[in-house]
Amino acid sequence: MAEPELVDVVVVGLGVGGEEVAGKLAEAGLSVVGIERDLVGGECPYWGCIPSKMMIRAANALAEARRVDGLAGTAQVRPDWAPVARRIREEATDTWDDRAAVDRFVGRGGRFVRGSGRLDGPGRVRVGEQVFQARHGIVLGTGTRPSIPPLDGLADTPYWTNRQAIEVEELPASLLVLGAGAIGLELAQVFARFGVAVTVLEASDRVLAVEEPEASEVAAAALRADGVEIRTGVRAERVDHDGGRFTVRAPGGAEFTGDRLLVVTGRRAHLDELGLDTVGVAADQRYLPVDDRLRAAAGIWAVGDLTGEGAFTHVAMYQAAIVVADLLDHVRHTEAGPDASGTASAVGGAVGALGAASGGTGPAGVSGGVPRADYRALPRVTFTDPEVGAVGLTERQARDRGLNVQVGVSPLESSTRGWIHRGDGLIKLVADADRGVLVGATSVGPAGGEVLSGLAVAVHAAVPISQLRHMIYAYPTFHRAVEEALRALR
Ligand SMILES: Cc1cc2nc3c(=O)[nH]c(=O)nc-3n(C[C@H](O)[C@H](O)[C@H](O)COP(=O)(O)OP(=O)(O)OC[C@H]3O[C@@H](n4cnc5c(N)ncnc54)[C@H](O)[C@@H]3O)c2cc1C
Repeated sequence: MAEPELVDVVVVGLGVGGEEVAGKLAEAGLSVVGIERDLVGGECPYWGCIPSKMMIRAANALAEARRVDGLAGTAQVRPDWAPVARRIREEATDTWDDRAAVDRFVGRGGRFVRGSGRLDGPGRVRVGEQVFQARHGIVLGTGTRPSIPPLDGLADTPYWTNRQAIEVEELPASLLVLGAGAIGLELAQVFARFGVAVTVLEASDRVLAVEEPEASEVAAAALRADGVEIRTGVRAERVDHDGGRFTVRAPGGAEFTGDRLLVVTGRRAHLDELGLDTVGVAADQRYLPVDDRLRAAAGIWAVGDLTGEGAFTHVAMYQAAIVVADLLDHVRHTEAGPDASGTASAVGGAVGALGAASGGTGPAGVSGGVPRADYRALPRVTFTDPEVGAVGLTERQARDRGLNVQVGVSPLESSTRGWIHRGDGLIKLVADADRGVLVGATSVGPAGGEVLSGLAVAVHAAVPISQLRHMIYAYPTFHRAVEEALRALR
């Protein structure tokens, strides 16, 4: 068996979170091994956020052109998928090649190893025949994979996950989408706008079931207007593929057919592959629990989707900054010994400088120079048209927590801009009446994700509602519907 090689830090999984942590620590002068079995950068740049938003940009251009009729004359639109597929291949993913990302990581001072990493006892990571002993810590950033429901027959069919949907070069005539969460709705609307006959099947009684019911209604109406057939309350139980078409069967004899089937029913971390048992951590959990410094166990940090704190790139980046600060703080104390003045070694010196830059004292949520994770104002955006932005708690969540809840809703047309735009949407605010602050907000509209930013500040900083009511909202912006919703709070 190979002798373990001593390094400072091992990062397993170089997706959004892992790549950021590994790169920053390498820049700080630590010896960092980054292990990735697929593509450096992870799901977001190759099969997630970036290519899907390129598709959405193109589909929205079609929709906007179709709005010319009745507003500015007439326009004829002939959709063509070729430029979209080309852009994803050439601009977003380099034909799913991560050479540039690997070079970027190595250029920051990291050492790259291609393969599957696995814990191999305290402080150790095995990748193939190589074993690394981490002097200061191990960071797990292994993300999630699609969670495929155990439907009869499904495993034997050539169904799509988000990966095949993103890589598609030629669109099918018809598509069944299993799952009406954010990813399912975004892709359903894109393909429908390009002329695919799309049917969305959802087991819950509404689309976007984790968001406010009012948002679900607007999103469902928008997709229906694009020609998407939405069937809620459908518990698929069997899938067949006859070599050409898919059939999804539900209880009561309901059947749905399509040329392709896209399964987007959630994502799952695969803890059982990580060797967690070798360090005394249970692997039979849905996600890897972490504390507010992203520590999962002694000497082990986790970052990104794996932690179950929100499957978003912005969560992975936010957590990465905390992991970097905490790990550097840990290194500074280890290197400097009990008198941690921060100048013990070359590495300690570099770390001292970076630690001071990333930490310091002052802001709320920062303790001992290391920021603590706080998800109260976690923002999330579903990039359908209209966009569905949300932050903090929904009304249901706030009531379940026993808060003294007040709710204010205003339709987007209550703002002059919304009326001029003829765009559907709404603002919904959820307040804790006892504290006089917003604890959640939803912003649905043509720029719902952008309007969300002010609401996220309000929830994050607990800005008193009295102050929000007495600030000035620019005329005529979509934001002015927020003022109306504040007035409606009761
Ligand atoms: C279609 C789609 C659209 C999305 N759109 C958005 C969006 O608009 N906005 C947003 O914020 N988020 C979006 N997301 C979510 C976003 O992609 C994820 O939150 C983000 O990629 C999480 O980063 P991560 O580092 O946790 O994991 P990942 O990006 O999944 O990276 C994990 C990496 O670890 C590697 N790995 C796993 N196990 C091992 C192992 N044992 N050894 C070595 N390597 C391993 C994997 O190969 C992978 O590269 C979208 C996701 C999808 C699927």
